[in-house]
Amino acid sequence: MNKTSSHRLATRLLHDNIERSSFAETCEALFLTSGFIYESAEQAERTFQKKERHYQYSRVNNPTITNLENRLIHLEEAECCVATSTGMSAIFAALFSNLKHGDRVIASKALFGSSYWIVENFLPKLGIETAFVEGTNIQEWKKALSKPAAAVLIESPSNPMLDILDIRQIADLTHQAGGILIIDNVFATPLYQKPLKVGADLVVYSCTKHMDGQGRVLGGAILGSKDLLEADIIPFVHNTGLTISAFDAWILLKGLETFPLRMEKMTENAKICAEFIEKSDVVNLIRYPGLHSHPQYCLACKQMDAPGAMIAFEVKGGKKGAFTFMNALQLILICNNLGDSRSIVTHPATTTHMKVSPEDRLKLGITDGIIRFSVGMEDPQDLLEDLQKGFDELTIFCKNKQ
Ligand SMILES: *Cc1c(COP(=O)(O)O)cnc(C)c1O
Repeated sequence: MNKTSSHRLATRLLHDNIERSSFAETCEALFLTSGFIYESAEQAERTFQKKERHYQYSRVNNPTITNLENRLIHLEEAECCVATSTGMSAIFAALFSNLKHGDRVIASKALFGSSYWIVENFLPKLGIETAFVEGTNIQEWKKALSKPAAAVLIESPSNPMLDILDIRQIADLTHQAGGILIIDNVFATPLYQKPLKVGADLVVYSCTKHMDGQGRVLGGAILGSKDLLEADIIPFVHNTGLTISAFDAWILLKGLETFPLRMEKMTENAKICAEFIEKSDVVNLIRYPGLHSHPQYCLACKQMDAPGAMIAFEVKGGKKGAFTFMNALQLILICNNLGDSRSIVTHPATTTHMKVSPEDRLKLGITDGIIRFSVGMEDPQDLLEDLQKGFDELTIFCKNKQ
């Protein structure tokens, strides 16, 4: 394995820590094998005793998966990584491997739907006390974390409203309460925010999103210190079988080669689109961390290296208005995925956040007019023209309603 170099990130992502086979392939090889063979019974024994480094079984280790984990370690500048089958299996493992009956878990309200479900419905069934706080309100964090807590789960920027949470402050409060801070960093990506550097203990990803970025596979990852990962998390992932497949890991490796390039283009497009959307008469509000109008704009500038490729905005006319806008689009796709190279809109109230009660949705700011916009790599002029088609239809709809 070639070692970590002193090159810059874009270079390291292409060249460093590639585990090559004896054939010296250029591109990482795809090892579609469930098992590995030993020269002797003694070698098998030494491998299981961890006295010799040898691959054993693809639920536990596989060279293609090792390559992916090494690449993610580079990106995050973390000590250790374990790749998982999906983003949710990463979040599940990060939480469960550290929890036991009687523990307390605190989470910010604005969470990805399935994460919300785990904290709201599943943890209490196991005798784990849970509480939600308004993530941007530090007083609520202080109150919730004045009692011991085993783990805290947050997202920043959050899905779908792009709330920015103060990672450093929440990490300090979590540690005072004796817990670990887990952050879902999907919206920012490791390119634009490094939570481990400001006190978070574990970073989790859905690699399905910007990392693959081409809508092909599901994947996830947990990153953090060697101590934390090796003690509980890696054994949990491997023994419960949350492992990613070598094939999906290989696709992700290919995606990561162009990750910085794609994110740069998508973020550039997002800035152009956000400025355009903000000026529309049929838009009530927009949330984009790169706009001065974002309620936590200063914190976003401090905490993130770039605002990313996700936008949320509220159109006039509620659900009907949102549907009119979305159905008038001819280029931008309607899909509940995000982070793709193709631009995508989602109506959270009727899809991703359908199961959240209407009252809770309103508390999260997810009104019926909210549209989540994942900006892709198209020519920005085509995106603006398509958005304009949506706004034109919506303008007619609003006039007819009056
Ligand atoms: C998609 C997503 C997840 C879940 O990831 P999967 O790969 O679908 O399991 C978790 N958090 C956020 C913020 C996401 O966007």
